[in-house]
Amino acid sequence: FFRPLEKIAAVIETYPRGIAGFRSYLELLETAQDITDGPGARLAGPLKGAVRFEDVSFAYDGALPVLRGVSFEVAPGETVALVGPSGAGKTTALAMLPRFYDPTGGRITIDGVDIRDFTLESLRTQVGTVSQDVFLFGSSLRENIAYGRLGATEEEILKAVQEAQLGDLVARLPEGLDTLVGERGVMLSGGQKQRVAIARAFLKNPPILVLDEATSALDRETEREIQAALERLSVGRTVLVIAHRLETIRDADRILVFEAGRLIEAGSDSELRRVGGVYARLQ
Ligand code: ADP
Ligand code: MG
Repeated sequence: FFRPLEKIAAVIETYPRGIAGFRSYLELLETAQDITDGPGARLAGPLKGAVRFEDVSFAYDGALPVLRGVSFEVAPGETVALVGPSGAGKTTALAMLPRFYDPTGGRITIDGVDIRDFTLESLRTQVGTVSQDVFLFGSSLRENIAYGRLGATEEEILKAVQEAQLGDLVARLPEGLDTLVGERGVMLSGGQKQRVAIARAFLKNPPILVLDEATSALDRETEREIQAALERLSVGRTVLVIAHRLETIRDADRILVFEAGRLIEAGSDSELRRVGGVYARLQ
């Protein structure tokens, strides 16, 4: 989902397993894209989760613009669904919230504050992400889940396991939560990896949640379970979801339609159908 993760994935494998590996990983993550704390950066206190994109533009490596003058607002606790063709800029836009990239023009605020004015760590602990490409470390399932919040207690981890419906898997694994996963251990299925990501997000308990819905086929039962877990996870949070399912789109408070880096339509399902634009023609 977030490209910096892909870039450093190869490096991670060479790091020792365990918490030391996590630290190195975090350090790498924080130096990705030369994004660092500004001189006057301050701690973000507990955020309400009002998200605002103000005329945001972005280009990778000074190349063609990928986002052009994107503006929208999400109130605390609201769910917005981003839709549009592949390559429209949806993933890039949401990767800017935890500052994997910074806008080349315009700004993004949370609770009225430019996110570049927050320390990276205090920002990132309050923006959770669940995507299809889940990064697993070559360590135990427990450590992979605890990555959601370093320092989580065993009790909190077990609760996250239940909330993400990972209990059956843990029961089946030879060494339970201590089982090694990933390349050198038990390979997890796409659905299981997503549940790990959901468990991490429950542990993290962030006011803002970024979801990238699966496009790849999960069996129907797995999809239903994951969807139910995501719905529970979303309660009481501001949610920005890159939506591929009709139900997600219909249930969203607002739908943002992206095309070629621009936000071309915004409104509820019924509003967008009424205006008879691009969204209405997609139905
Ligand atoms: P969407 O999520 O709507 O499919 P993306 O944000 O993934 O769109 O991509 C928008 C555009 O940016 C595409 O043209 C894509 O090829 C390009 N792009 C995405 N990630 C990178 C990257 N890391 N480097 C260069 N170009 C990228
Ligand atoms: Mg995408």
